[in-house]
Parts: sequence; structure tokens; C-alpha cells
Amino acid sequence: MQNGYEDGYSDYELDFFQAVDRNTMAEQAIFDALMDINDDQYYTLFEVNVEHTCGPAKVQVFPERAGTLYRCLHCNVAGVIGG
Ligand SMILES: [Zn+2]
Repeated sequence: MQNGYEDGYSDYELDFFQAVDRNTMAEQAIFDALMDINDDQYYTLFEVNVEHTCGPAKVQVFPERAGTLYRCLHCNVAGVIGG
């Protein structure tokens, strides 16, 4: 975990940066879970187990060559990684 924020940030700012960190780590975990998928898993929807921002969760992924679409089945957050 990165924790190198200088003193001088307000709680408002720290809350923001920590939320970005958590999301970045969750997206990295999703990305890592897709490192060893087969070519025929691209452009198909399937689930991986990762540590999401909400905790251990099943996440739906739809890997495309340009990026990966995902949706957490626990907290329902969805997004795109890469692209
Ligand atoms: Zn989640």
C-alpha cells in the first residue's frame, strides 16, 4: 500500500487519495487475476474472486484487448481497467 502522503493534506483530501488508492489496488487485483486467462476467454463474461474495495468478492469481468470491463457482484461498482 502506498502511504507517502505528505503532512499538509486535509482529511478531505486524504479521504479522496485513500479512496483512489483502494480502487487502484482493487483494479490491480482484477488485472492480476486475468494474467493467465486463455485467448478464448477474451470477449466472454466470467467471474474471478478478488479483494475488492468492499472486501473479498466475486467480480464479473469481460476482457477485451483494449481493456477489461468489470462489475463487483458484492458492491455493484462497475468500471473499465486499461483501454
Ligand atoms: Zn466490491
